[in-house]
Amino acid sequence: MPRYHIWTIGCQMNKAESERLASLFEQRGYQAAATAGEADIIVLNSCVVRQSAEDRLVNKLNALKALKRSRPDVTLAVTGCWVDSNLEQLKKGSPHVDHFFKPGDCPPWLEEAEWGQLLPRHPLPSVYVPIIQGCNNFCSYCIVPYRRGRERSRPVAGIIGEVEELVCRGAKEVILLGQNVDSYGHDLPEKPELADLLNELNAINGLARIRFLTNHPKDMSTRLIETVARLDRVCEQISLPAQSGSNDTLKAMRRGYTVEHFRRLISEIRSKIPGVALSTDVIAGFPSESEQQFQQTFDLLSELRFDTVHVAAYSPRPGTIAARELEDNVPATEKKRRLDKIEQLQESIATEINARLLGKVVEVLVEGKKKGKWHGRTKTDKLVFFTSDDDCLSQLVPVRIEHTSPWSLQGRLEAGDDS
Ligand code: SF4
Repeated sequence: MPRYHIWTIGCQMNKAESERLASLFEQRGYQAAATAGEADIIVLNSCVVRQSAEDRLVNKLNALKALKRSRPDVTLAVTGCWVDSNLEQLKKGSPHVDHFFKPGDCPPWLEEAEWGQLLPRHPLPSVYVPIIQGCNNFCSYCIVPYRRGRERSRPVAGIIGEVEELVCRGAKEVILLGQNVDSYGHDLPEKPELADLLNELNAINGLARIRFLTNHPKDMSTRLIETVARLDRVCEQISLPAQSGSNDTLKAMRRGYTVEHFRRLISEIRSKIPGVALSTDVIAGFPSESEQQFQQTFDLLSELRFDTVHVAAYSPRPGTIAARELEDNVPATEKKRRLDKIEQLQESIATEINARLLGKVVEVLVEGKKKGKWHGRTKTDKLVFFTSDDDCLSQLVPVRIEHTSPWSLQGRLEAGDDS
């Protein structure tokens, strides 16, 4: 039986596309191979949002040269955000790659219609569902709009049909994906909003939970917040990237909102969605970010107390506005110091937030078992581990929390829910 291997780095959109590719191979009779060395077809799903991700891809490609030399019959394909419009240059730089195809595009060995209908035959309890591709925003540091193109929303009926089918095949939770889910629908004839889509999905029998990411602070609407608060299956979890706590830096990033607007939005979300968990992203060491501007970001995070903060040190991405126009003038050691400082702050905030769950019973959707422990997530996206001899996979189970840390919770299976 022929075998396939998919190597994926980067965002959830890449993971969603890799899940669909895996489904394609399995429906064509391929078997998953744990390593590239055992596979007949290898796909690298790349990311170039940060230099470290690009370096990993280049290392991987170099490592596969010897494999291609010894087994020229192996097919090697590259997709993801590394694949830009300059295919000739990519082919010249990596002649051992057989196919390049853009992220979200149909693989070259497949019909477009076939690709659109690829769903995992046996989906995990929680499945990614892309609802909008591309981005129209052009934040100055970001390469995504150049690689994934302009926004293209999928029609509501197609998404609903897909989610119904996923539920029939065993999925319990869907995570709706887009670079900016708040833009969903503006390019469709009926102009549906994300709130309309959530209303429809909430009515699907057998679907227990709905999540979505990522939101954009300049586009998130009151109607969406109120819809999340009203619908029982939509999780109380919002991902809202701040990127900086300084208005000057936000302007240089071309983010299109102010710190004051961001603060008001967080306050509205918290007042309308009780118990909501919030996550954010920030960049440390953006060009010309002064110590004072960094401190403003630090203060914003201390004040707003997010459940999760993803922090990245700025690295210029060739082809972006920031790489062209702004000098990368914060030294690497200083970026690292700022990043570490934010991570330390967040560790102490997450420790306190999670400690409040000690002794409480939470509902967990069980996603798998690792080293003898079941693991899954709460509606607020907390990772929970527990032990049980029963087969808990795909179940919604009550777990009493006995130990907390900034990153995860440990507990024991409970007979009933008294949270
Ligand atoms: S909103 Fe900005 S950061 Fe997000 S994908 Fe679009 S351009 Fe990139």
